[in-house]
Amino acid sequence: MGIEEKLPSGFLLSTVEDMAGYFRKGSLWPATFGLACCAIEMMTTGGPRYDLGRFGMEVFRASPRQADLMIVAGRVSQKMAPILRQVYDQMPNPKWVISMGVCASSGGMFNNYAIVQGVDHVVPVDVYLPGCPPRPEMLIDAILKVHDKVRNTPLGPNRIAAEDEAEQLALTATPTIEMKGLLR
Ligand code: SF4
Repeated sequence: MGIEEKLPSGFLLSTVEDMAGYFRKGSLWPATFGLACCAIEMMTTGGPRYDLGRFGMEVFRASPRQADLMIVAGRVSQKMAPILRQVYDQMPNPKWVISMGVCASSGGMFNNYAIVQGVDHVVPVDVYLPGCPPRPEMLIDAILKVHDKVRNTPLGPNRIAAEDEAEQLALTATPTIEMKGLLR
């Protein structure tokens, strides 16, 4: 976005990428967005016992425009899905998403018409966190995995190449409808 796309390729870009990734991972701010019981564990993670401040992210932003991490904590109802997408769209690029708990990741035990069967139908997910509910330690582990991703985020021409590669992979992937799972 913006000046990033005007960066030259080569050695200089690698250095800029390295520095930008390092500073970004140390200042990741989550959007305040809790949907169900998982949100209680998310709030606990921000409290003094688990202290997200150690990772530079104790500030949960009330405005999506100041946030770059969305933690989808809990089941997503069909009614909530467009609002979730709107919050995501209002977050500036680059942004990351953690799907917290089985409900957010796959609908969990709520296999019915009222609940979205996986938030990846609505927004792209970077890390899926299993559990019902996941413990704060598990959320911190997922956040650290996002930090690794942030640290290695490509910029400029490298990002365009990575996006092209991801698109090719998506186009050649097996459609979900053809996958065999426990429910089919
Ligand atoms: S995964 Fe469990 S704790 Fe989390 S929202 Fe679903 S039912 Fe609640």
